[in-house]
Amino acid sequence: MPLYEYKCFECDKEFIVALSLSERQRGAVVQCPGCNSKNVRQMISSFIPRTASKTV
Ligand SMILES: [Zn+2]
Repeated sequence: MPLYEYKCFECDKEFIVALSLSERQRGAVVQCPGCNSKNVRQMISSFIPRTASKTV
């Protein structure tokens, strides 16, 4: 099951959600585990390693 990284607008918490493709296509509602807000946004950069060096 693919993992998606989300960020909450309300409390600024970042969290990982596992959603199947069919769940995503049905428009599954993602809630923040910290404050239960649905005001969350998917992080697009979740597949880029954070340790990637830019000093090349
Ligand atoms: Zn939150």
